[in-house]
Amino acid sequence: MIIFEKVSKVYPNGVVGLQDIHLTIEDGEFVSIIGLSGAGKSTLLRAINRLVPITDGDIQINGTSITKANKKELRMIRRQLGLISQSFNLVKRSTVQKNVLSGRLGYYPTWKSILGLFTPEDYQHTKEALETVGLSDKLQTRSDELSGGQQQRVSIARALVQQAPIILADEPVASLDPITTQKVMEDLKKINQTMAKTVIVNLHSVPLARKFSTRVIALKAGQVVFDGTPEALTDEQ
Ligand code: ADP
Ligand code: ADP
Repeated sequence: MIIFEKVSKVYPNGVVGLQDIHLTIEDGEFVSIIGLSGAGKSTLLRAINRLVPITDGDIQINGTSITKANKKELRMIRRQLGLISQSFNLVKRSTVQKNVLSGRLGYYPTWKSILGLFTPEDYQHTKEALETVGLSDKLQTRSDELSGGQQQRVSIARALVQQAPIILADEPVASLDPITTQKVMEDLKKINQTMAKTVIVNLHSVPLARKFSTRVIALKAGQVVFDGTPEALTDEQ
């Protein structure tokens, strides 16, 4: 469960990113965050893993406060949060397998990450995650030989092997064509339904939010202007 209590973010230059946000997100929800560019979607998503430090209020992830967390606690919190971004962030010259394996480092305590040695179990998780996103045949392919949509699905597989219960996807389909967009959204939906993961996704598109999520949160100028089911969302939002 994720709880936002009176959360605000004012950037150092005085720009308000978020203003007085109260939210509770339960385990297993599929939440779309919508709003125009600059509405605060990215700020909200990145506040959850403290990539953006908030300036007021608190966020709790399964009972742990992210504002009060020390280094070790923050690491434990981040292990529970798989991050997918618009730009995929793959190592381009590296194989699909190596890119996905690197997600395992987010699963282990730090000493293991430093060693970077992978076990047969790590390879098994990698194989299974690539099956989930339909890319089993690309194991040894170089990442930069894949299409944008395939690269995004590799980045989803990388988040999966971390075995985080919560997936944060920051505009994962912003750079993809309509057909690939559907595929990536379907992968996120599958992960939500079959693996019982909480998915929180930033989107520009209202139709996508309607089609895939169980809850839509609309932001405007850093404030929540709608929070409800896709069915309750009217065209003004
Ligand atoms: P969205 O993801 O909805 O496009 P953002 O969360 O990126 O919106 O931005 C919300 C507001 O905060 C915008 O006005 C944006 O310009 C501002 N903002 C975002 N990041 C920074 C930053 N690092 N420094 C200053 N202002 C920022
Ligand atoms: P997006 O549309 O994906 O949110 P942006 O182009 O708004 O991306 O932002 C790109 C980067 O610039 C982000 O890291 C964001 O935090 C930062 N940024 C956005 N707005 C501002 C701003 N007004 N001042 C400083 N940094 C900003």
